[in-house]
Amino acid sequence: MTSTNEQTGEYLDPKDFYEEMKKEDTIVLDARNDYEYDIGHFRGAIRPDIRNFRELPEWIKDNKELLEGKRVLTYCTGGIRCEKFSGWLKEEGFDDVGQLHGGIVSYGKDPEVKGELWDGQCYVFDERISVPINQVEHNVVGRDYFTGEPCERYINCANPDCNEQILSSEENEHFFLRSCSHECRVHPRNRYIEEHGLSEEEVQAKMEAIEEYEKQKV
Ligand SMILES: [Zn+2]
Repeated sequence: MTSTNEQTGEYLDPKDFYEEMKKEDTIVLDARNDYEYDIGHFRGAIRPDIRNFRELPEWIKDNKELLEGKRVLTYCTGGIRCEKFSGWLKEEGFDDVGQLHGGIVSYGKDPEVKGELWDGQCYVFDERISVPINQVEHNVVGRDYFTGEPCERYINCANPDCNEQILSSEENEHFFLRSCSHECRVHPRNRYIEEHGLSEEEVQAKMEAIEEYEKQKV
């Protein structure tokens, strides 16, 4: 526990954060976006059902009961966003707030905790997309958008107007034309169709196969 100030939660070093996570009256809140949580997070951490970090203050207001009387721990990738988040928590009257100092990335490098209690990968905002954190064990928590199978591979929807990040195996990427919905598949500027130079007939055949798959699923 290094320092505290009025605007933000108490800074916890990886070792303290690890110990406090295991305590019973602790709630761990993920202060990142949904797609970051989906590929990896601390075991038992709550994923606020929001699309974007900016919606968090509203979420806190709506979920006061969940947090009342608890020790609230928050974390993010590099330790910046959870400073803001814990500040919002304090503004809402929650005093017992701690945050992971240095973020997930430092936690993964700490020689003592070795990333323990982290499941999956850590999403990062560069070409690597995700990095390992837990040096002791690896549990896959990501799920393929199309089939629900364990998956840690992110792709962007081929509809340039959508560009949604979804987890998908290579096989499913090709089967579903790297598109998150039917609307995105038939988008006139679909990048998958462009990149693979698919003819109208080829697209048609793929669409029929998808239709067939979806019928069988029901
Ligand atoms: Zn899409």
